[in-house]
Amino acid sequence: MDVNLLKIKISVNTLHKKFLRECYNYAKKSKHSSTHNGAVLIKNDKIILRGANVLPLGVKEIKSRFEGSNRHLYPNHAERDLLFKAAKKGLSTDKLTMAMPWLPCIACANAIISSGVKKLIIHKQMIQRTSADWVKELKNAVEILKEAKVKIVAYDGLVGAEAYMHGEKWPA
Ligand SMILES: [Zn+2]
Repeated sequence: MDVNLLKIKISVNTLHKKFLRECYNYAKKSKHSSTHNGAVLIKNDKIILRGANVLPLGVKEIKSRFEGSNRHLYPNHAERDLLFKAAKKGLSTDKLTMAMPWLPCIACANAIISSGVKKLIIHKQMIQRTSADWVKELKNAVEILKEAKVKIVAYDGLVGAEAYMHGEKWPA
């Protein structure tokens, strides 16, 4: 997917680079079989909370819960893991910024909009590696995010981390 075709603004802000690097690093907590994704919540240019695509706290990490179609059902996506953690801590997410390398799916976009997050920082090079079966959903997610006035910027460049998505690893 091309962020230019999605009309997403490009960023070369080094702070954005740092936030995205932290997302990739925190994503290593995931036990997902094919994709490790992370997300961070930002307030006043500081990371205040981290999330990854993991099972909810207390749910047993049984291998079968990460396999086949179960891997789409059991783990929370990183964006929702982050927002649920914020709710547990009693932390308001209204008007905050979230960074995550990939674009959110529809369910995560809904959660982002409903929780009042107003800006997303994504990673251009990660979006470019989106597999064909996700393209339509992510385009629709961008559409609803824009309707709800959530700003999106895409950092362009390597951030100095390792990515793992759709079963492939590469330097991000
Ligand atoms: Zn999602």
